[in-house]
Amino acid sequence: MEVNKMYDVVIIGSGPAGISAAIYAKRAGLDALTLEQNPLSGGQVLNTYEVDNYPGLSGINGFDMGMKFREHADKLGCQFQNASVSGVRRAGDEKEKGFILETSEGEIHTQTVVAAMGAVHAKLHIPGEEDFAGKGVSYCATCDGAFFRGKTTAVVGGGDVAVEDAIFLARSCEKVYLIHRRDELRAADILQRELKALPNVEILWNTVVKEIAGKERVESLSLEDTRTGQGRSLAADGIFIAVGIVPSGELMKDMVGCDEQGYFLAGEDCATDVPGVFVAGDLRKKKLRQVVTAVADGANAIASVLDYMRELI
Ligand SMILES: Cc1cc2nc3c(=O)[nH]c(=O)nc-3n(C[C@H](O)[C@H](O)[C@H](O)COP(=O)(O)OP(=O)(O)OC[C@H]3O[C@@H](n4cnc5c(N)ncnc54)[C@H](O)[C@@H]3O)c2cc1C
Repeated sequence: MEVNKMYDVVIIGSGPAGISAAIYAKRAGLDALTLEQNPLSGGQVLNTYEVDNYPGLSGINGFDMGMKFREHADKLGCQFQNASVSGVRRAGDEKEKGFILETSEGEIHTQTVVAAMGAVHAKLHIPGEEDFAGKGVSYCATCDGAFFRGKTTAVVGGGDVAVEDAIFLARSCEKVYLIHRRDELRAADILQRELKALPNVEILWNTVVKEIAGKERVESLSLEDTRTGQGRSLAADGIFIAVGIVPSGELMKDMVGCDEQGYFLAGEDCATDVPGVFVAGDLRKKKLRQVVTAVADGANAIASVLDYMRELI
């Protein structure tokens, strides 16, 4: 990373979208830098046990996928820097002045920005969730499931990730509860069928978790029936929360047009309402948030960066 220079494009985040953007930028001959706050590139897929819907890499482990993506970018000579971005502002009124990024490693100057900060796990915001984080409360079954071998766990949620987590945990846990606030799951049919065939999984319908309790670690959950309001306690050694994701666009939300949830508004060209700022991946408002759509965005964002740069000349 060079502080006293103007990059053509700085990409914030090196998940699938950011890495794809880095690869397309390099191959287009742009002077590009990709910033990543975590020690490893790969984003959310690093926490995924298996990705079975990305063409050509059937059943790949998510961590391996993240590593493969980064290896590809490194092989092409893409520039990465471990840094967390805390702010983005215009360097001046004229378009040519570009943008200044405030990062943990100093300020960076760039003509264009690709925001590929993705998303993070949503929280339940209930008593005990913070206190027992890492002590029985987890947001990643594939990362932490092994600590609960032979134990009783609960998964909260009703989508693909929650059901996949319950299936994954059922392989090693004695008992797995899937706690869902509605009376039907949103997960894909194929996953639901697999889940329902497992003898050690029990689905608790129309149920929410009100509190997580224990001494040193999680010991029990306070549940409430959403129809009757009746409460009860459930003994559990661990709780895996899979209730969706929250976009990580906070640092630019006052600059770029967002929807009510904080997803950046942009079409397939990935151009936001701020000329020179593009968005790629899960952070963009779109129908399907997956690796395959994230990498497509990365490519489209760079195609739009190139159009924008041509207009500057
Ligand atoms: C448990 C789980 C299972 C999944 N399974 C599948 C699957 O089977 N198939 C599939 O296609 N998809 C799956 N997904 C979805 C897929 O992982 C995402 O759609 C994809 O990772 C989105 O890529 P992204 O690059 O947009 O964002 P992310 O993967 O979220 O990456 C964003 C990156 O930006 C970095 N970042 C954020 N803010 C900053 C900052 N301020 N400064 C610097 N860096 C920053 C983050 O550290 C991160 O590395 C799964 C997701 C999860 C959580």
